[in-house]
Amino acid sequence: MNTVYIRKLERMFIMVKMTCIVCGMEINEKNYNFNKEAFINSNSKEKIMYCPFCGAPIEYLIENGQKIKYDRNKLNQNSLKIIDHAVKLEVFNGDFYKKASYMAKDKNVKSMFKSLSSIEYMHARIHKKIAGIKEMPVLKDMDYSKYNTDENLLAAACQREKHAVAYYKKYEKEIHEENIAKIFNALSKVEEEHVKLTGE
Ligand SMILES: [Zn+2]
Repeated sequence: MNTVYIRKLERMFIMVKMTCIVCGMEINEKNYNFNKEAFINSNSKEKIMYCPFCGAPIEYLIENGQKIKYDRNKLNQNSLKIIDHAVKLEVFNGDFYKKASYMAKDKNVKSMFKSLSSIEYMHARIHKKIAGIKEMPVLKDMDYSKYNTDENLLAAACQREKHAVAYYKKYEKEIHEENIAKIFNALSKVEEEHVKLTGE
């Protein structure tokens, strides 16, 4: 084989590096498959459809892209309160999924919950950065023992996801910083997919 051919071949198998403009993570051949259980259609090396870290869909993944920039100074008290609640909502759901991944009996449900947990914690980190919050909130331990079957856990998950979608859709309009509103919109799409994922 001549070197030109080898180079051509290599190029075919080297993934184009993309940046998720929502969470700022770079997606590469080592991480494209992270949290794959949290998606209806998983990424492949040839076709990246989601950010494996925050779940943002393809339209937010840009070759050599830049993270969405925003001006925190434009945020008023109301917006800061909304974002503070968003951090808590995502931690609340992240904690739930973490627990649910221990509680679930089915292997696939278990790994799906585990992946969902890491994606929701990523959302919490995104909001935390936006609002300039220093510490991740620690919520009180919840008793999930009433969700004693996988079906109950899934139903509870679906309920939470619907609530998250509604939260983002409602408060996106109250955030007077269009790029942060854009991030809310992106995350509402991620949670919409989670509704489908946990509801079927
Ligand atoms: Zn992302």
